[in-house]
Amino acid sequence: MQLPEHILPPADGDTFSGLWALDPYPRGAAGEVFSPCSPIDGKPTCQIRAATAPQVGDAVMAAEHAFRQWRTVPAPRRGELVRLIGDLVRENKSKLAELITLEAGKIRPEAEGEIQEWIDVCEFAVGLSRQLHGLTIATERPEHSLIEQWHPLGPVGVISAFNFPAAVWAWNAMIGLVCGDPIVWKPSEQTPLIALACNQIVTLAAARFGSDAPSGLSTVVIGGADVGAALASDPRVPLVSATGSVPMGRSVAQVVASRLGRSLLELGGNNGMIVTPSADLDMAIRAITFAAVGTCGQRCTSLRRLFVHESVYDELVERLQKAYSSLPIGDPREDGTLVGPLVDEASFDKMQASLAAAHDEGGHLLCGGDRVFDDVPEGGVYVQPAIVRLPRQTPIMHEETFAPLMYMVAYENFDDAIEMHNAVPQGLSSAIFTNDMREAHKFIGPAGSDCGLAGVNIGTSGAEIGGAFGGEKETGGGRESGSDSWKQYMRRTTCTINYGTALPLAQGIRFGD
Ligand code: NAD
Repeated sequence: MQLPEHILPPADGDTFSGLWALDPYPRGAAGEVFSPCSPIDGKPTCQIRAATAPQVGDAVMAAEHAFRQWRTVPAPRRGELVRLIGDLVRENKSKLAELITLEAGKIRPEAEGEIQEWIDVCEFAVGLSRQLHGLTIATERPEHSLIEQWHPLGPVGVISAFNFPAAVWAWNAMIGLVCGDPIVWKPSEQTPLIALACNQIVTLAAARFGSDAPSGLSTVVIGGADVGAALASDPRVPLVSATGSVPMGRSVAQVVASRLGRSLLELGGNNGMIVTPSADLDMAIRAITFAAVGTCGQRCTSLRRLFVHESVYDELVERLQKAYSSLPIGDPREDGTLVGPLVDEASFDKMQASLAAAHDEGGHLLCGGDRVFDDVPEGGVYVQPAIVRLPRQTPIMHEETFAPLMYMVAYENFDDAIEMHNAVPQGLSSAIFTNDMREAHKFIGPAGSDCGLAGVNIGTSGAEIGGAFGGEKETGGGRESGSDSWKQYMRRTTCTINYGTALPLAQGIRFGD
């Protein structure tokens, strides 16, 4: 991939433009210069200038202009742009993954997996571009027809978190583009380079696609919460898709609601798993370990609460302690590393505060929690994944700690386990390990898990793109990616057509005849 030189990291002393858009709309950013640091070693990845609020407005204006053209391009032709994007992503998978590792600290296989997710969603979106179906509905009036159609919505604002710096945008952008919507993206201030590289892929694909792709179709605005807030408050953005913490979502939801816009929220999780007496423990150990320590516990779907039947509790504790004792922790760029760094010092401090709170609430540390200094890059924050056993579900277990910290509680009665599982404010991902068909179905049924994602004999993290992704309660209620999530990126029109010569009113109302 030939990225323009000025968006390649790191170039000491250089100041990158923080606003990047399709030609002919590149315009220098005018906000503050800041330096995100790599979680690997704490060194700056670049110096970058943020966009200002008026520049966010300019990007939205360009998207609004682009919308006038893009909405009239037939959807299957719009799919062709996404197909070209997918081709370029395939060609550049490794380089893009490198940037994710640099900026988010993900180990290589997970970074490559994230780019694969982008490729997968391109394929899904291309197929979808021929399936944006409406309905034909039975009408009560003679010589009438009643149909439902889906039309492009308008510019979509995407605000994304550091931990999935490419995939979250890709879910929104690839589907938004086939639905006929331009995208204005405010990535995490931690991960501007991967965002600029992703947008550069769209730029290159648009150049191959031709003049049907207007300028302003895909824009990145770099900056912090203020830049995100400027995007959320713009009335020309009918849909704001925001991924991040619950406080961020609360703020964005209120701003968007105050102008009666639509928001699609993907917020924090506090994911639980139940391990029952009949569980296949070999499988459960592997699933628990990946879900709890993968991405160093910094996935929205990371496993944080484990409810284990008392008959298998001791065995599971012993085997988990063994599995945790041999985890390769270190440089995420090296082959064999399974646990990379935390994003920053503040994350480590929060993990320590949660460990202290758990201790005060009667918790017993089973393993981990210490900072790792040996055989890891200097300047990064590396930590041993921790497990804490608690006598019951205590207040600290109601909070999401974005680090590799898992709490374990023993249960006696299956219904109590479900009750505890659901008793937290978040509702993203959940799982059960059981070979009992009744327990499995109860867990995924109406009186079971109250989460958006419920798995049987599988961990809480690592969703496929084909299903709708998202969660309930404080997780925000949004659904992205597969299934019928596309409907949120479109507006629905219900059309009544009278092909007769009379004018019958609905409900049989007679008016002056
Ligand atoms: P964060 O909330 O700090 O930041 C997320 C994004 O929101 C960033 O781009 C940030 O600049 C922006 N932002 C912050 N405050 C804002 C405001 N008031 N108005 C507009 N924009 C604002 O989150 P983070 O630390 O980057 O990511 C970790 C969090 O994200 C965790 O809670 C995790 O569970 C959650 N997350 C959820 C999902 C999901 O699909 N449910 C996916 C990934 C991450």
